[in-house]
Amino acid sequence: LTKQTLANIDAHEADLQAYLAMNDEAVAQAEKIDAAGIDPDNVLSGVPVAIKDNLVTTNMPTTAASKMLENFHSLFNATVVEKLQAAGAVIVGKTNLDEFAMGSSTEKSAYKTTRNPWDTNTVPGGSSGGSATTVAAGEVPASLGSDTGGSIRQPASFTGVVGMKPTYGRVSRWGLIAFGSSFDQIGPFTRTVKDNAYLLNTIAGHDDHDATSSDKEVPDFTAGIDQGVKGMRIALPKEYLSDGIDQSVKDAIQAAAKKYEELGATIDEVSLPHAKYGVMAYYALASSEASSNLERFDGIRYGYRAEDPKNLEDLYVKTRSTGFGDEVKRRIMLGTFSLSAGSFDKYFKKAAQIRTLIIEDFQKVFQDHDLIMGPTAPTTAFKVGAESTDPTEMYMNDVMTIPVNLAGLPGMSLPAGFSNGLPIGMQLIGKPFAESTIYQAGHAFE
Ligand code: GLN
Repeated sequence: LTKQTLANIDAHEADLQAYLAMNDEAVAQAEKIDAAGIDPDNVLSGVPVAIKDNLVTTNMPTTAASKMLENFHSLFNATVVEKLQAAGAVIVGKTNLDEFAMGSSTEKSAYKTTRNPWDTNTVPGGSSGGSATTVAAGEVPASLGSDTGGSIRQPASFTGVVGMKPTYGRVSRWGLIAFGSSFDQIGPFTRTVKDNAYLLNTIAGHDDHDATSSDKEVPDFTAGIDQGVKGMRIALPKEYLSDGIDQSVKDAIQAAAKKYEELGATIDEVSLPHAKYGVMAYYALASSEASSNLERFDGIRYGYRAEDPKNLEDLYVKTRSTGFGDEVKRRIMLGTFSLSAGSFDKYFKKAAQIRTLIIEDFQKVFQDHDLIMGPTAPTTAFKVGAESTDPTEMYMNDVMTIPVNLAGLPGMSLPAGFSNGLPIGMQLIGKPFAESTIYQAGHAFE
């Protein structure tokens, strides 16, 4: 299986550009698992899996798709990597992303532009575009991505696969290169909802290395997955079907709502009145966190270092000026500005207040609903190059995923139709730690 997977990746890689590094030991690891015998209690035993290249690994480089981490090798594995390996999964390689996970198209990688397998003139979404593409192309049954504002769900939507962003704290972030630490979560891409639940079973749980990982018990996410949606109360926010969302996307979501009604759920129109401020609040907050997190890339400690510095100050300046791409620099500047003495109250504090209002919007809806449904993204996959010069247009991709990160809730995208041969994604949003409810409703829809 591993050999065939590697051959498939090899055959498509020139077109798809999904990988930044391959695991040279994959076949040997698979052979070792074969020799020991497949563990029947462990569904991932011997299964090839790909991971986003912002998850650190000892046996492959980790670049976060940045020149800044050229040739960087970690001394330890991310917790999710350890967990996958303990379950017998074979990690075949590291997938492409927007530099430091900042972007929505995987065009902002310093190394390559990943293509959407449905139409290689379109983007796979991002930032976890490589992980989405390799699953959508049928190369691996599962991969891991990270989601700070939509980076698992939007690429899942664009490539027609299932992508789950778990509740904040459900999965350890140890070994995930930090972007916005109060938002970042790791989650799985798969072709089916049930496969996704198996992956989350494996990677979830408390970790002493990550104080923000929850010690809440991890249920078997596949346990109630067949129970259907009869009696479920599902909310459909009117803001998620407003102007700016493609008609084909709205139609697919309306059709999905009808299907849920036929399956025995009730659908109510609700309002998330502050959701429209989410993108603005997110870019102040996530960029502030990023500006702090990215301070560590100084040319001394990790990866890349500029040549011929005049002095220490010059080493920092030269390294950061040439090591970071434009989008990353934009975030560092925006974040540093939002945190500066003169702007803190006006921007950072205001954004934090909006975050609270958005959390309260969700709490209100969840008082009498089990789930929220809506589109994942306003459009289907766009053409390569179409949005790469207009940051605000790119940022609007996440208008319906960002509020979920601001509130720390679980959200999943799953395929809900096609428009002009390109997949449309539906987003299901749950109460904190209610991933099981999302999987149950997602599975009923498939
Ligand atoms: N597209 C959003 C951004 O650029 C979200 C990225 C992410 O979730 N990592 O910040």
